[in-house]
Amino acid sequence: MTSSGSDRRLHVALLPSAGMGHLTPFLRLAASLLNHGCQVTLITTHPIVSKAETTLISTFLATFPQVKELQFHVQPLGPSDANSTDPFFLQWEAIRRSIHLLSPLLSSLSPPPSALVADVSLISAVIPITTSLKLPHYILFTSSARMFSLFAYYPTVLSASSDASSPSGDSIAVPGGIPIPKSSIPPLLLKPGSLFASIFTEDGKKLKSLDGILINTFESLEPETLNAFKGGKVVDGLPNVYPLGLVPCDFEKRAGNTPLKWLEDQPTRSVVYVSFGSRFAVSREQIKEIGKGLMSSGSPFIWVVKDKKVDKDDGDSLDKILGDELVEKIKNKGLVVKEWVDQEQILGHKAVGGFVSHCGWNSVVEAAWHGVPLLAWPQFGDQKVNAHVIESSGLGLWPKSWGWAGEVVVKGEEVGARIEELMGSESLKLQAAHIREEARKAVVDGSCKDAMKQLLEMWKNDS
Ligand code: UDP
Ligand code: UDP
Repeated sequence: MTSSGSDRRLHVALLPSAGMGHLTPFLRLAASLLNHGCQVTLITTHPIVSKAETTLISTFLATFPQVKELQFHVQPLGPSDANSTDPFFLQWEAIRRSIHLLSPLLSSLSPPPSALVADVSLISAVIPITTSLKLPHYILFTSSARMFSLFAYYPTVLSASSDASSPSGDSIAVPGGIPIPKSSIPPLLLKPGSLFASIFTEDGKKLKSLDGILINTFESLEPETLNAFKGGKVVDGLPNVYPLGLVPCDFEKRAGNTPLKWLEDQPTRSVVYVSFGSRFAVSREQIKEIGKGLMSSGSPFIWVVKDKKVDKDDGDSLDKILGDELVEKIKNKGLVVKEWVDQEQILGHKAVGGFVSHCGWNSVVEAAWHGVPLLAWPQFGDQKVNAHVIESSGLGLWPKSWGWAGEVVVKGEEVGARIEELMGSESLKLQAAHIREEARKAVVDGSCKDAMKQLLEMWKNDS
């Protein structure tokens, strides 16, 4: 798709998929492209799964009225159409099955875009469309570079294994990278027939057809993995990997439930922030133990409790979820909230000194950006692979015996002891501060800035 010579402004179309962990980095990319003078078209898929996504999209579009929104209305799945109960995965699948509706939308754009940046979950669905439109196809990989190395190498591992659905051996030795233990790969990958496994294995084979891979990461977090990509060691013929630092932007700011006033009264670096992201509900039993742990840790805290995967379904009150006794005991020791908070403002506050996190990749990047050490508590999906990044970069601690969600209920004393360790560690504080400095250098005038420049050059040459 080439534009007429008279229009030289770079036009990029973005197609995120469902879930805040996917939407947020796409919108940060959009903001960055606008800053570089590009024209941006945002393709929004409807219906939107969560309230949080609806709010973020409308604030983004209100902040940047120059962005063109293309609404992509996906067809509902039939009852037997997908092997998943997760509303976010189901939406990925619904988008894939409705992808024929994307072609006329893209063709309607004037001037035609120079590139499409689409979500990682849509690779095989989008390839025939970008091929027929001659539109360069990039993906934004919404997890770590280390997770991407697994994604790229996994088809090779499976083809060498005697069991076509499971890798042989105890770990996966991604060339040029640090081996990934089999116990850390997403459990759904080992579940034959799961939607996740079929997308992952099918799409991993097609990466060579793409024009480039954008990843939100910093050299200071993942030096070995990024080097392995630079040296072309992971898989032969992979397109270029662009490590972009897609850091929080002003349009994401939300007043509302974020306890900034309370934070102002707390000593510097004294508060531990606890959150398991936008799409994971901790079991009620585990919630009670976390409450006990927070009380025994001795640190003041902000604890975000989520009781349902999708925010629209989250109806029960905190009293009901925690029980009256815990609510009473917790009062004066910290804050418990059950609504969306502005994580960026919390992590950026000087009173916050530690983050107990499920290791969703955006949370890890945001903690690195603000130099806040993490207590890694991965729950599902890519999160153990991300926890390895936290551990190997020195950004945090990871008690591996805590397992995946539902494997064990971690006792309150254990949670409390690890939080004490997190909050008391000088070496973690220093290393987190170092990663923060390096990340800022990379974004302001280093590797992330260079990667963005290269990408823009590439697109200019294509248009
Ligand atoms: N987030 C937030 N407030 C909340 C919960 C989540 O601002 O109450 C943001 C968080 O800062 C991050 C995103 O939502 O940008 C969650 O993405 P992540 O990859 O960390 O985890 P996921 O929710 O996809 O599991
Ligand atoms: N993923 C992938 N290929 C796919 C689907 C997912 O590489 O076809 C990646 C995706 O980037 C995601 C990670 O695998 O971040 C693990 O997915 P998870 O279950 O954590 O879902 P998420 O919270 O990212 O939506």
